[in-house]
Amino acid sequence: MRDLVNDVSVNYEMAARVPAFAPRAQEADGTYRMQQHDIDRVQEYHKCIECFLCQTVCHVVRDHEENKRQFAGPRMFVKYAELETHPLDTNDRRNLLKEEAGIGLCNITKCCTEVCPEQIRITDNAIIPLKERVVDNSYDPLVWLGRKIRRRSAAEPAPYPDEPARATFHAASPPEA
Ligand code: SF4
Ligand code: SF4
Repeated sequence: MRDLVNDVSVNYEMAARVPAFAPRAQEADGTYRMQQHDIDRVQEYHKCIECFLCQTVCHVVRDHEENKRQFAGPRMFVKYAELETHPLDTNDRRNLLKEEAGIGLCNITKCCTEVCPEQIRITDNAIIPLKERVVDNSYDPLVWLGRKIRRRSAAEPAPYPDEPARATFHAASPPEA
């Protein structure tokens, strides 16, 4: 029986970890405005029927049981892409993708794309754009500097009770890998 029925329960655990859609506020006239090309892009992700074939063939988890709980897998990356590229969404999942969803473990072999019955271009249209976002967030020197300043501002107490805390600049060191 085990050969015929695949245990996909771990995929539902992974799905529960994906931060939900969080739309921005409506326009003053009570509507949302979006570009048509943004909507068209998201439609591809919506075609997923959750067959989990892509998860099953991915060698990151197929050959390495120990990766199952630290690698979200191609189906979940489609889900992340659906939310991250949605023109109305305000949640930022980039750090989560790097630290907990294990997107760095994917070496873009495209095995998942080859088996998708819905012809979703998982690697090219979901995983690679997500990887690019994570890299921009982690290694862009301006993003790194801004984050450093915000961290210092939060850590340092205000010099006077009525005055907000001030950022302090220190000698730069390379961004963390
Ligand atoms: S492209 Fe990435 S997610 Fe898809 S099968 Fe290869 S390693 Fe797995
Ligand atoms: S193979 Fe395609 S349809 Fe099936 S779960 Fe993966 S992305 Fe969805």
